[in-house]
Amino acid sequence: MMDSRLNSTFLKTRDSYISKLAEMGIRTLRDLLLYFPRSYRDEQDFKQIQDLKLDELNVVQGKVKSIFSKASQTGKMMTRAVVEDSTGELPVLWFNQPHLKTMFFPGSPIVLTGKLKYERGRPMMLSPKYERPAGALVHTGRIVPLYPESETITSKWLREKIFKLLRFTSYFDEFLPEEVLRAEGLMSLSDAIYHVHFAQDEEHLKKARERLAFDELFILQLRALRRKKMWQEEAAASFFNNKGEELSLQPFLDSLPFKLTGAQIRVLNEIEQDLNRAFPMLRLVQGDVGSGKTVIAFAAIYLMFKKGSQSALMAPTEILAKQHFKTCEKFLKPMGINVQLLTGSTPESDRRAILQQTKTGTCDLLVGTHALIQDDVEFSKLELVVIDEQHRFGVKQREQFRKHGFPHVLSLSATPIPRTMALTLYGDQALSILDELPPGRKEIVTRIVPEAKRDDASFWINDQIRKGRQIFVICPLIETSEVLEVKAATEEFKRLNEDVFPEHRSALLHGRMKSNEKEAIMNAFSKGEVDILVSTAVVEVGIDVPNASIMMIEGADRFGLAQLHQFRGRVGRGEHQSYCFLFTDSQSQDALLRLKYMVKYNSGFDLAEMDLALRGPGEVYGVKQSGLPDLKIATYTDVDLLKRVRSRADDLLKEDVMLSRYPLLRQKVEYVDEGSIGF
Ligand code: ADP
Ligand code: MG
Repeated sequence: MMDSRLNSTFLKTRDSYISKLAEMGIRTLRDLLLYFPRSYRDEQDFKQIQDLKLDELNVVQGKVKSIFSKASQTGKMMTRAVVEDSTGELPVLWFNQPHLKTMFFPGSPIVLTGKLKYERGRPMMLSPKYERPAGALVHTGRIVPLYPESETITSKWLREKIFKLLRFTSYFDEFLPEEVLRAEGLMSLSDAIYHVHFAQDEEHLKKARERLAFDELFILQLRALRRKKMWQEEAAASFFNNKGEELSLQPFLDSLPFKLTGAQIRVLNEIEQDLNRAFPMLRLVQGDVGSGKTVIAFAAIYLMFKKGSQSALMAPTEILAKQHFKTCEKFLKPMGINVQLLTGSTPESDRRAILQQTKTGTCDLLVGTHALIQDDVEFSKLELVVIDEQHRFGVKQREQFRKHGFPHVLSLSATPIPRTMALTLYGDQALSILDELPPGRKEIVTRIVPEAKRDDASFWINDQIRKGRQIFVICPLIETSEVLEVKAATEEFKRLNEDVFPEHRSALLHGRMKSNEKEAIMNAFSKGEVDILVSTAVVEVGIDVPNASIMMIEGADRFGLAQLHQFRGRVGRGEHQSYCFLFTDSQSQDALLRLKYMVKYNSGFDLAEMDLALRGPGEVYGVKQSGLPDLKIATYTDVDLLKRVRSRADDLLKEDVMLSRYPLLRQKVEYVDEGSIGF
């Protein structure tokens, strides 16, 4: 077990710091030692004073020759010093750092890191970082760790504390099996935690980070693979698959007003094969918005119905659940399937009746939100669970259905995740990819609109509305606060409604509205009673309005490509040519480059790869947005490491699914907090 000394809290630290640290997730010694640097500054290259270069970062070690402070005319405290080494003298100037005078005296050793500037005709170091070396260097003149900071807790503060605690790194028990360490040539855990903070050189730093990255991916992978194996083994024992009778999808397919695409047929085949195995299906279907995932789920639901079993279809929001319910009435009801809708706002009397029907088996398909996984929902014979927009749910929610036995689970996702990433994250699910859109879709025309062209665009859009089209307007993302976001959207709504499009009917939608208000507005929009729907980004605009042909996105540079693509997918569903306008006042070349990819690419998979390459997975798949665990060191895109990790995890589990030979490792894998790796 972990050494209990690591659980000590910070008794000697000021209270205000303790609460700030807690906000950063740091409560114990262990947390602090596992608070890894965000990046590093390489200051290993010491220079002599005579070799210093102008405007470059220089590291110098010398002695203070003189030092004094005085207030300037503007009231600033200025500290001037002269630092010398055997090759010369260096003037230094700091502002508002009165404590310097109590740290350094003539003769004190000093290390400085800073840029040399020309000031009043002579070279001088302005506000350099400094350290009074006492033994090892901590803040300068080494590979300096830079920590994520908060307002109170600075990187320097953290560095200082962590440096003093380094000896505790040896209390971290090794949890990787000896054979894995040896075969992969990995650094020990305690060394890795030491060197990730204060590496003696680059090689040690590299090995430390490799080890810690390996751990993160290894544990995720073990979790996923183990879940899959246990699911299959447990399920196989009690799973009853009434094979024999060949069920035909033909009547359902014949009833559709269109022919399936090649990709849809391929994915359906994969699903049918799953349904004939000795254990329940766990499959994820990834496909762009509009690629036709719903029909595939319906086909599976139809098969279950033919077998005499029940299905459940769960969506993340009430609006989506209702939309699915309507589509079910159109496609499934005519086949004789009894569909019911259960959400948080289902009236109590209806709810009781629906639960009764579900319990007795009269209801064949229960569509709904999280309401489906509440305790009092009972099924008579649940054999298929469909989870739409699965990234909005966690594994826990999926597992809730286990209390009804071992249903097949089919997850749908319109957030395209590159394959390597999907394998790590969803290693427990089989993966199907819908990479073809139904025929006849007109490609959406995407344009970047700089400020100067705004009026032209408005004029053109006005004309389109006059011709009967409807438009979505998405307001900029304001990450700091939902209140501000609502305020911005309200202003944008007023501007559009009163100044830009006064003759048209606009409506506003935001996350702080009650769900029945939102509902009413969505309905009005989808019935064509509203021309312009202004919405904040937090609102799920996952509604299908074929007559909406323009998507206007304000502050487009603030969104990730994947999210922009999701918005764009809201149009282009009807017969009219559709447009997506990306409004931006950004001058940043990077931002504009990203938006240009939107113009160029129409496939969510291409854009996801681009986004990943441009911004890195941390940015693209923020924890909140995607439900992915937040990796501290590893990246989801490190394909080489992923391959190593996968094959090691496979080997280990092959012999011992329970990991009973490695209790420490097992403890990590079973660590309950889903969002954490839990070193
Ligand atoms: P998504 O993958 O975004 O969930 P949907 O399943 O909602 O997409 O399908 C989008 C639209 O395309 C729906 O109106 C659906 O009826 C239609 N559709 C699905 N498959 C086909 C097809 N093979 N041919 C033509 N239209 C299709
Ligand atoms: Mg869908």
